[in-house]
Amino acid sequence: MELTVLGCSGSYGAPGNDACSGYLMRSNGTSIWVDCGNGTFGHLQEHVKVEDLTAVVLTHGHPDHCVDIYGLHVLLRYGIGRSHVPVFAPEGLEGHLMSLVSDFGDAFDWNAIGDGDKARVGDIDLCFSRTDHPPPTYAVEATAGGKRIVYTADTGPGWTVGAFAPGADLVLSEASYLHDHRPAPIHLSAREAGEAAREAQAQRLILTHLWPQIDPALAAEEGAEAFGGAVTLAAPHLVTVV
Ligand SMILES: [Zn+2]
Ligand SMILES: [Zn+2]
Repeated sequence: MELTVLGCSGSYGAPGNDACSGYLMRSNGTSIWVDCGNGTFGHLQEHVKVEDLTAVVLTHGHPDHCVDIYGLHVLLRYGIGRSHVPVFAPEGLEGHLMSLVSDFGDAFDWNAIGDGDKARVGDIDLCFSRTDHPPPTYAVEATAGGKRIVYTADTGPGWTVGAFAPGADLVLSEASYLHDHRPAPIHLSAREAGEAAREAQAQRLILTHLWPQIDPALAAEEGAEAFGGAVTLAAPHLVTVV
């Protein structure tokens, strides 16, 4: 299974790192776009043809995780004439998103996700877990070919990757803050991300969603110390194979 970072800036775009959260998970011809943060649709198309996109997952309704679905809708409907692309999203998000457009036509087939829900998308098995974040937010576990990737989505410390089975091959964790400066309890510090991944016996850890004002080198250092091993910082177009 392959994970490609399409965007990783925490909460808002930053100079030189303008795309927010978006990832491409792929296995044997299955391609799932997980989170459509602002700036990620253009990056997505550098890695997969929209004709070949298998499904979309929206972890929650914060704009930095979902607004580029509007661009996908336009290309599907008026550019390539493709319809019924499966979208997995929290209950009610379709209606919220529709308030900015008259309708989505038949571009998407919406599937509401809830805590513990599972879905099979092509070659990839998905499982969702409700995190500690104000709008209903779901972490994503993706399994294919005996390999497993866990993506925390956005979460505060009241939820951890321990909600899934231990020993994931790769944990992609939000790490919005440094531990000595956590302005809002709805996100993790790099230390909290590292500790949770260590406790869950993650094989590898990628930190993402870093708040643009923090020093990435300090986040990497703090996360690695807590994880007890090297961590990787997400960057646009970073490809990781597990
Ligand atoms: Zn976010
Ligand atoms: Zn959020």
